[in-house]
Amino acid sequence: MAWQPPVLGGVKPKRKAWALPEGRPDRRKRGRAGMRERAQVVAEEPLCRACLKRGVESPTEEVDHIVPLSAGGSDTRANKQGLCSPCHLAKTRAEDAARRA
Ligand SMILES: [Zn+2]
Repeated sequence: MAWQPPVLGGVKPKRKAWALPEGRPDRRKRGRAGMRERAQVVAEEPLCRACLKRGVESPTEEVDHIVPLSAGGSDTRANKQGLCSPCHLAKTRAEDAARRA
């Protein structure tokens, strides 16, 4: 029988630092596709949606997922809105608190 290199059975390859944990599909668009969509949202919604509801005009600084990806939201335009930084931070904190509750 010809010599064969040893096989490391049962040893899982180490997860790369940038890779997501197994079993957690990442639906977020990254790279150029993500940047193009962010720019599109900001162009379409130059003012923060949450501030507008309160009658305040603040420039859109960040693009938010209305239903967070972690809650099963999609990475489509319909699930995105422009928010200013304080509103985005407040929404993210509320979502984190709700998830822990
Ligand atoms: Zn705002």
